[in-house]
Amino acid sequence: MALQIIPFQSSMNTCYLIKDKGAVLIDGAWPNEAKSFSKFLEKHQIKPEEVQLIILTHGDFDHVGGAKELKELTGASIVIHEMDKENLEKGIFHWPEGVTPWGRFSRSVLKPIIKKKAAFPAVRADIVLDDNGLSLEEYGIPGRIVYTPGHTFGSISVLLDTGDAFIGCLAQNRIPFRMKPGLPIYAKDIELLKKSWKILIDQGAKTIYPGHGKSFPVKKILKYLN
Ligand SMILES: [Zn+2]
Ligand SMILES: [Zn+2]
Repeated sequence: MALQIIPFQSSMNTCYLIKDKGAVLIDGAWPNEAKSFSKFLEKHQIKPEEVQLIILTHGDFDHVGGAKELKELTGASIVIHEMDKENLEKGIFHWPEGVTPWGRFSRSVLKPIIKKKAAFPAVRADIVLDDNGLSLEEYGIPGRIVYTPGHTFGSISVLLDTGDAFIGCLAQNRIPFRMKPGLPIYAKDIELLKKSWKILIDQGAKTIYPGHGKSFPVKKILKYLN
């Protein structure tokens, strides 16, 4: 069967199941999603144990919150970069600073509200990456993990040989963040983030799958990079 990219919606977040010879999940959703993820797998005729990796694009609460439960369901190994590992393993709530007026405002208003609802169970990472990333070949996926810091210092992306790129919050493409595809409104280091985009583009990224919102062609991001 050909490569499949199947989005799994969890509140404001979009996770992606990538299936080829093997299957991996990009991002760990919000807490309490095991039941709906189990139904999602059943609908797509994928057995839980087929999912070999849960690749966390970064350690923010909305991307790692459900990782423990999804690991328990599937038996998959959790993958994260060493710089974001602590949030996952200690259940630390993290939300990068706003880098646009709307980012700064929305974070200051929403953070106290969401922080109360977003407590999540900590879990140990199984594979901790350094800046060299990881080939996904041995997991039956034609692609690799690329280190793409900027939104957080431990942000990573999955780049398939097809040019499909799963980038977490290296871009955002939905309300309440943005009206159309563009750079994220929250980031630790926006200049570093732009450099990460150049790396991904140099390495062949063509279609972008963000952690918030629908996929879009990479050319929509070019205007933000100069
Ligand atoms: Zn984030
Ligand atoms: Zn996010």
